[in-house]
Amino acid sequence: MITIKSRTEIEKMRAAGKITGDVLKVIEQHIKPGVSTAYLDKIARDYIASHGATPSFLHYNGFPAGICASPNDWVVHGIPSKDIILADGDIISIDVGACKDGYHGDAARTYPVGKISAEAQRLIDVTKQSFFEGIKYAVHGAKLGDVSAAIQEYVESNGYSVVRDLVGHGIGKNMHEDPNVPNFGHKGRGLKLASGMTLAIEPMVNAGGYEVCVLDDDWTVVTEDGSLSAHYENTILIKQGECEILTL
Ligand code: MG
Repeated sequence: MITIKSRTEIEKMRAAGKITGDVLKVIEQHIKPGVSTAYLDKIARDYIASHGATPSFLHYNGFPAGICASPNDWVVHGIPSKDIILADGDIISIDVGACKDGYHGDAARTYPVGKISAEAQRLIDVTKQSFFEGIKYAVHGAKLGDVSAAIQEYVESNGYSVVRDLVGHGIGKNMHEDPNVPNFGHKGRGLKLASGMTLAIEPMVNAGGYEVCVLDDDWTVVTEDGSLSAHYENTILIKQGECEILTL
């Protein structure tokens, strides 16, 4: 069921979204060679708790941490570990959610660690821009397929591929709500968007093929061909005209 948020609910979504966006800015300041992903998780959990919120990911389907931390060819859902130490030249995708007053925010970014290759930087930039290409169509009255198609077209025109097995989602009282929001699709098709819908739009972009597989921990999603992968996500509110990004 797709929920249309009331004015009061939207205020709560804004509050949860602000904490979610801000925690990423705090994490970013700590990303450098030699830092473990467990340390980044601790930073995130402390920040979220200090703002009267809870980490949405912790215990979600048994997930053991407050953030997902996915370096290099890991696509999403990497489990933070003291044994995963960031190295110069890595890229690291951080996905985080915060729940405040019963409502969730969800956002992700991919960051460079130290000095990275021009090609890795281009992947990060294209992934981020694909989100902004998509949300040009995320307005009241448009079709969800317009958003999906715009993301796919931008990514593929830059020589990369969009992951098919994982998609964005509605969000609100639950971190994952209807509808699914694929990063590939056809213009003019799918759900008609309406004011008051809140969606997590999250292109996952591989430098190589779109195929992914899951490691033995049953969480970590990696590219099948070992190519780099980047992620960019925000929670948005559909309105008349331009959407509002709640997690910047
Ligand atoms: Mg999400």
